[in-house]
Amino acid sequence: MQTHDLVIVGAGPVGMALALALKDSGLDILLVDARPRGAARQDPRVLALSHGTRLTLERLGVWTQLPATAIETIHISHQGGLGRTLLRAEEYGQPALGYVVPAGALAGALDDALASTGIPIRDNAAVSGLAGGADDVIVSLADGRHLRTRLAACAEGAIQGADDKPLVEHDYDQHAVICVATPAEPHGGRAWERFTPQGPLAVLPCGSGCAIVHTAAPAEADALLALDDATYLAGLQEHFGTRLRFAGVGPRARYPLLLRYRQDPVGQRTVWLGNAAQTLHPVAGQGYNLALRDVWACAQVLLRAGGDPGAAETLATYARERRLDRSGTIRFTDALVRLFSSDAAPLRHACGAGLLALDLLPPARHFVAKRMMFGARAWP
Ligand SMILES: Cc1cc2nc3c(=O)[nH]c(=O)nc-3n(C[C@H](O)[C@H](O)[C@H](O)COP(=O)(O)OP(=O)(O)OC[C@H]3O[C@@H](n4cnc5c(N)ncnc54)[C@H](O)[C@@H]3O)c2cc1C
Repeated sequence: MQTHDLVIVGAGPVGMALALALKDSGLDILLVDARPRGAARQDPRVLALSHGTRLTLERLGVWTQLPATAIETIHISHQGGLGRTLLRAEEYGQPALGYVVPAGALAGALDDALASTGIPIRDNAAVSGLAGGADDVIVSLADGRHLRTRLAACAEGAIQGADDKPLVEHDYDQHAVICVATPAEPHGGRAWERFTPQGPLAVLPCGSGCAIVHTAAPAEADALLALDDATYLAGLQEHFGTRLRFAGVGPRARYPLLLRYRQDPVGQRTVWLGNAAQTLHPVAGQGYNLALRDVWACAQVLLRAGGDPGAAETLATYARERRLDRSGTIRFTDALVRLFSSDAAPLRHACGAGLLALDLLPPARHFVAKRMMFGARAWP
């Protein structure tokens, strides 16, 4: 049986980032992924990344390879409500409030960087089980083989829930229909977040196009996917309003949206990261940003501790250091969806008034802007 210091389950954008963050650690690292190597390059999603994420991707040596589009302003509005808020990068002395990057390009840049480190990826190898013991974890593969490791980092995306760790789950009864639209006029580096009773609609500047994240009830998402491009485009325009005109749309894909997270992201010689630790609604684009803060903190804790990477105290330190940011980001995201997706008239008006207040009250606006730029560092 092969023995490693660290087996990373899942070579998605989170697993690969962890391997890169530990490339000089001296640990014997192996990544294992169920899919063929490079499959993540086909991810059609487009990610809004914070300024803090940019800094981490710079440290990992991949930022300059990314086709990133700067978000200079964010316009937040509420369908059927009067209020609106405008966040501007220039108010914070930053070139951008965030950046938009195709998820496939991010995966490609991470994969290329990994290839140059020589850290191996075992692809086409689904992990079917983990058995944590006092000294090691036995990783079972679907082909019947096994690996031994001192620490298993689970970054396999979906939370399996097959272990005894308590999970918190909430189904928003919403799906995200995503596509790239061609704007009729330049987007000017502006992102729009529009809250509607069906769920949030995000329009993100992506190259010369606009990445759309169009949330709808599952049955409505079925209908949106079945429409021809011209009919979908007309419906999207009506849903979004007149602040920007769209001239065309590309292929659509869909993702069910839910909140599911592990209260405790560590177990015996095991740490869960990325979507395997917490799967969030994409509103305000927090998922990968939080995941990368987790990854960076995990790598720093392991480097600081030295010795046995799976030691219980080391994992407990990681969990403790990440508690505030994890719970704050999960609550922030969940509250946004629940509050702004309500169709109740009093709540709708209250949300509109809230957005207006946000616009008029600089401290509140700065808090939201800093959370978009830096995540947890927005907290006092
Ligand atoms: C519509 C949408 C929009 C989003 N927008 C944003 C945004 O704007 N900003 C943001 O920060 N985040 C956003 N997110 C969240 C972001 O996409 C996720 O945080 C990120 O993709 C999680 O990456 P991951 O590596 O944890 O999981 P994944 O990308 O799912 O990768 C998991 C990997 O594990 C492998 N795997 C799975 N099971 C096994 C197994 N049993 N054995 C071995 N390997 C396995 C898979 O093949 C895959 O390669 C969005 C999400 C959605 C759905």
